[in-house]
Amino acid sequence: MPRPIKASIDLPALAHNLTIVRQHAPHSRIMAVIKADAYGHGLLHTASALKDADGFALLELDAAISLRDAGYHQPILLLEGFFSTHELALFEQYQLSAVIHHSEQVAMLLDFKHQELNLFIKINTGMNRLGLAPEQFPGTMKQLEENRYAHNITLMTHFACADESSEEESVLQQLQCFELTTKQYNHPRSLANSAAIMRYPKTHADWVRPGIMLYGASPFSDQTASDLNLRPVMTLSSRIIAIHNLKYGDKVGYHGLFQADRPMRIGIVACGYADGYPRHAPTNTPVLVNNQRSRLLGRVSMDMLAVDLTEIENAGLNSPVILWGAGVSVDEVAHRAGTTSYELLCALAPRVEKLCSSY
Ligand SMILES: *Cc1c(COP(=O)(O)O)cnc(C)c1O
Repeated sequence: MPRPIKASIDLPALAHNLTIVRQHAPHSRIMAVIKADAYGHGLLHTASALKDADGFALLELDAAISLRDAGYHQPILLLEGFFSTHELALFEQYQLSAVIHHSEQVAMLLDFKHQELNLFIKINTGMNRLGLAPEQFPGTMKQLEENRYAHNITLMTHFACADESSEEESVLQQLQCFELTTKQYNHPRSLANSAAIMRYPKTHADWVRPGIMLYGASPFSDQTASDLNLRPVMTLSSRIIAIHNLKYGDKVGYHGLFQADRPMRIGIVACGYADGYPRHAPTNTPVLVNNQRSRLLGRVSMDMLAVDLTEIENAGLNSPVILWGAGVSVDEVAHRAGTTSYELLCALAPRVEKLCSSY
């Protein structure tokens, strides 16, 4: 028997979540964001479940090439574009689309006298991460149009605060900046991430770029994934590999961080931070044991963690434990640990085997 931890990937849930994107943005094409190994879910099986997407977006060139080699014909967009002239031959060979976010990339492009590439020109409308300054934008467009790129351009930006209900003003400011900057151009447009897809229909435009919602997690702190009719895709599960009975005052794990306040029964689960479970998850973070809700106790170790079995009398050695997924949402675990579902999903360790449920 191998170590019992595994991540089950529910492919029908991915396909379901894609239909939820379509319901929100019925007039837009969907660029499914599958960067970071599809947010930790595994690139190729995720793509197969999302094969009805109109395009894919990621930022690792080797992953983009393997996607093309696997036979996907949709546009594949590299979200940070290319980093050197040398990569441009691969963009051409594999027909990859590139985000252009600074003038150095334009210079590289104009040096590269080959076939035309599809370009997504990114404008910095206030997030100050990637993108051309609005003042730079007309000059860059002129340069590209003079160099026969006019027919291959999509205009894009990215929102900093679409997930924060108190920050509507910021989204509207960015939207207005984008509209002002691009108003005399007729190119297709792309603005919305998951949060904007669900909260700001006027940002939908020609291409939406959902990431986290495809994986069945919520970008919002005030609405759960199930409120949004999204289904969790990854279920991280393991088993109880040891049991202990504690007396009043006994301590658990490193630094004895948890101390029994009554006689208790605890289970040790084969899952730790080296598997991707957050070390900062505190006592009382929810887990499911035998499908009943229980709680984490004490410090998470590298390979193990402790859970309370006092109230779960039917639990014993080998009882199944769900760390997140079906029945206990990754958003809830992330919130308890002071982080987001994005980080937990992406941090799933390579040593955890991923098993796909099929259709
Ligand atoms: C990651 C990313 C997305 C997807 O964001 P979600 O919040 O996961 O929906 C969209 N656009 C860009 C540019 C991104 O980097």
